[in-house]
Amino acid sequence: MPSLPYPDPRVALATLHGKADALAPAFAPLGLRIEPVAIDTDALGTFSGDIERRGPPRDVAIEKARRGMAAAGTRLGIATEASFGPDPILGFLPVHHELIAFVDDVHGHVVVVEAMGRDTNWQSTAVRSPDDAEPLLLSSGFPEHALLVRPNRFEPGMAIAKGLVTRETVSAAIRAAAAASADGLARVETDMRAHVNPTRMRRIAALARELADRLARPCPACGAPGFGRAGIVTGLPCADCGTPTDLARAERHACGACGHAEEHPRGDGRTSADPAACPSCNP
Ligand SMILES: [Zn+2]
Ligand SMILES: [Zn+2]
Repeated sequence: MPSLPYPDPRVALATLHGKADALAPAFAPLGLRIEPVAIDTDALGTFSGDIERRGPPRDVAIEKARRGMAAAGTRLGIATEASFGPDPILGFLPVHHELIAFVDDVHGHVVVVEAMGRDTNWQSTAVRSPDDAEPLLLSSGFPEHALLVRPNRFEPGMAIAKGLVTRETVSAAIRAAAAASADGLARVETDMRAHVNPTRMRRIAALARELADRLARPCPACGAPGFGRAGIVTGLPCADCGTPTDLARAERHACGACGHAEEHPRGDGRTSADPAACPSCNP
C-alpha cells in the first residue's frame, strides 16, 4: 500500500479501552500512526447503561474522534462505537454492530465503515445466586472474556462491577447486586469493552483492515483517500417485465471531500430481480 497524502501521520484515538493494538497494524502500511489519547469516552455513553448514550452511533463515534483530535492536536482522528443485543427479528440470537469513524480534517471529510454480525459472546441474564450464573459463565468465554454485574432493578448511583475475570469476584458481585436490587436479582452480562473482550477486539481489527483498504483508494477526481461505497442505487429491473424494483441496481461509490460519485455494478453480479419483488408482477 502507498503512504497516504497526509503531512502528519498521527491519528488520534480517543479511548480508555486499549484498542490501539487492534487498529494500529491495519494503518501502519498506509504510513499512519495510531496515537492513543486517554480521554473518558465513557462520558458519551457506556454499554452497561450507567451513562445513557446520546445520538446515533455514527455521530457519537465522530464526536469521540474529534475529542481525541482536540486533545492530541492532530487533524486525523479515529473512534469506534458498538452496540450489542438480541436480534430485533430473531429475538434470542445476539447481534453485534460495530462502527469505525475516521475523521480527516486535512481533506475535510469522514470515512465510516460498519459491520453487523453474530460473532459475539454477548449475553445478559438475571440471577438470584452465583449458582444461577453458571450456564452464562460456561458459555460466554469467561474468564478470557470479562463479565459485569449490576442490580437487576438498576437505579442511578448504584454500583456496577465491571471487568470481572475470577469466579470469586463474580460471586461476590452477584450477592452484593442482588441484595441492592428491589427484586432481589442481579443482572450478569458479558463486559463488551474491547480490552476485556477478545472477540470484539478481533472484530475491530477486521473492520480496521476494511477501513485501511478503503483509505488506500484515492478519489479519482480530487485524490482524497477513502473513495468507496456510500450507498446503493435502487431499481433492479424485474426479470419478467423489466419494471424497476426497490432492490439495489448498483452500488454508489462517493468521495466525502469533493462529492464526486460513481455507479458500480452490484458486487454479486445480479442484473435482474425475482418477479416476486416486482411491484407490477406481484403487487
Ligand atoms: Zn474527491
Ligand atoms: Zn415484473
